[in-house]
Amino acid sequence: MKKIQMVDLQGQYQKIKDKVDTQLQDVLNTSAYVNGPQVHAFQKDLETYLDIKNVIPCANGTDALQIAMMGLGLQPGDEVITVDFTFAATVEVIALLKLTPVLVDVEKDTFNMDINALKKAITPKTKAIVPVHLFGQCANMEAILEIAKEHNLFVIEDTAQAIGATYTFKDGTKKKAGTMGHVGTTSFFPSKNLGCYGDGGAIFTNNDELAHTIRGMVNHGMYKRYYHDVVGVNSRLDSLQAAVLGIKLPLLNEYCDARRKAAQAYSKAFENNKNIVTPVISEFTTHVFHQYTLQILNGKRNELHQHLLDNGIPNAIYYPVPLHSQKAYMDERYNEDDFKVTNQLIDTVISLPMHTELDEEQLEFITTTIINFIK
Ligand SMILES: *Cc1c(COP(=O)(O)O)cnc(C)c1O
Repeated sequence: MKKIQMVDLQGQYQKIKDKVDTQLQDVLNTSAYVNGPQVHAFQKDLETYLDIKNVIPCANGTDALQIAMMGLGLQPGDEVITVDFTFAATVEVIALLKLTPVLVDVEKDTFNMDINALKKAITPKTKAIVPVHLFGQCANMEAILEIAKEHNLFVIEDTAQAIGATYTFKDGTKKKAGTMGHVGTTSFFPSKNLGCYGDGGAIFTNNDELAHTIRGMVNHGMYKRYYHDVVGVNSRLDSLQAAVLGIKLPLLNEYCDARRKAAQAYSKAFENNKNIVTPVISEFTTHVFHQYTLQILNGKRNELHQHLLDNGIPNAIYYPVPLHSQKAYMDERYNEDDFKVTNQLIDTVISLPMHTELDEEQLEFITTTIINFIK
């Protein structure tokens, strides 16, 4: 059996090696490392794939969130609602911009923003909602957009984990994750579903005026060379990364299918185990399985984590600490009772190896090892 990896970047690279090597060599031959033609070409390809008017590439997914908030003109003291159960980048940029993070609980089946908690968290100071499409499926955007409209709030979709997922509205309209709110952001970190070979990110919007503002902001607030109209940042996707992404984007749907296939094999193997809860997919979204995350109900999650490691099966706890309990983000405004689900999930979740290269033998070994341990 091939050695099992949490994410198999090498195996995936080997299948596209010729193309990647050629195109990286092209960039080296021209030495247009920043703002080369590969960046513009990838931007256009992603606009077409997502069916969105503007994609603004930037340096990483964290910058994308920060710049989106800057572009919307959020001001110190404005409250921004996001989830307690996610990667810290989301709350980090809110805090960096001196906005006030307001964390809310998630749903225990989908791990995404709890709509009732969101409603409860809105105050006259609320300016924006940041739903995170966690682990690869969309949050309840229909409800979130309705609430945002009613209260005149911006919606910034953090789709770092769900690029390629499709949302279906009640009227049958379909949209890609990241294209439903005022702005969407994503990350091309190597382990993400559309990953480059370093850092990368992008911001999406259908609002041309906002896109213009953001395009200047990513480039030192310049709209004309050496004229700085606003305070900006330096956040670029480089040509080498764009070249890799340009090759991988046409394969994204195939990559999503490979992940789904692995997820189906996992879920089928665990379907009759009363101590294992497999991922629940909401009816309004497809799932692209950035992570395949189980909930272990018999209190043996930590033992399973170690048992799998002992058997050469990598696995991870995403996430071990709720954001409201992190030293950097603790606040007396928070009440433990408001985070019942997150407080429970941190003790029960475990994410299994998930990538495009898992084979049947590996899946069989992983599932058998788990089933023999969790009865
Ligand atoms: C990875 C990730 C980010 C940050 O992306 P980087 O490119 O690593 O800065 C933001 N939000 C979520 C939910 C992520 O998973």
